[in-house]
Amino acid sequence: MASAQSSILRRAGRLVAALALVGWAPATASLQKSAQSTAPAAPLEIHFLDVGQGDAILITLGHLVVLVDAGRGDDIVEVLRDYHVYSLVAAIVSHNHDDHIGGMDAVVADFPIGRYLANGRPPGNHNAENVETWLRRNHIPKPPPPWPPIQLEDVRITVFPSSLANAENPDENNASLGVLIERGKFRALLTGDSQVEELNGWLAAGIVGDVDVLKAAHHGSRNGVTPGWLDRTRPEVVVISVGAGNSYGHPDPWALRYYQTHDRAVYRTDIDGTITVTVDPVGGYRISKAGPVAR
Ligand SMILES: [Zn+2]
Repeated sequence: MASAQSSILRRAGRLVAALALVGWAPATASLQKSAQSTAPAAPLEIHFLDVGQGDAILITLGHLVVLVDAGRGDDIVEVLRDYHVYSLVAAIVSHNHDDHIGGMDAVVADFPIGRYLANGRPPGNHNAENVETWLRRNHIPKPPPPWPPIQLEDVRITVFPSSLANAENPDENNASLGVLIERGKFRALLTGDSQVEELNGWLAAGIVGDVDVLKAAHHGSRNGVTPGWLDRTRPEVVVISVGAGNSYGHPDPWALRYYQTHDRAVYRTDIDGTITVTVDPVGGYRISKAGPVAR
């Protein structure tokens, strides 16, 4: 285990060392304008962590931190420490599949957490059961929905339940929580492993609107996107969280074609490594990427 841990630490070190600015999104002018402001404000950073085949999204505003999903393994703890995370305002798990909740038991065991939000379905696997054990042991509240928005100073994070929450048997993917992150005019939407049924439900409920950044649902699979979904959300940037050489065939080539229309910028964690969206107080943003990590 010692060699595995040092490997993780080396990887995490490289991740930060290699972080390089690669481009500016269309709102660059706003970012430059805000830089002239007299009131310094912490940048909002949304890190789509490269955790292989899975999701882990770290949202930071200075020392205020929210984690959405935790990838498959306990190495997420070392990655969080590398980002100087000491506590979490909230931990959110989109749904109970291992590629999202696998590392969450270690996070819940190791970090002070203000609240834990989940879809409320039975754990269904060993990792999810471990999370429940550690939540009780560490007295971390797990309130039921509806949840008030999580406010990190001027950043608002709204967590909404599955559009199929009242359906008799939505499958676990379609029971994913949605997460909307807003600062100034900036909006980003995280969609877990939602599939067409859940996305259509959110559209019908009028919950989602235009966003700047969209996390592709279900690792860029064909059942996670429709032309109607992109017509409504109108993202400028799409991020696909996906592992290199995964056995699922993610991302689907046809889905990729959808995402790449209208000159959208599409980033993939298997190719680009950890992808960071940095947002200023008025909502200007830029994208940076760390480069792929050898596994
Ligand atoms: Zn998944």
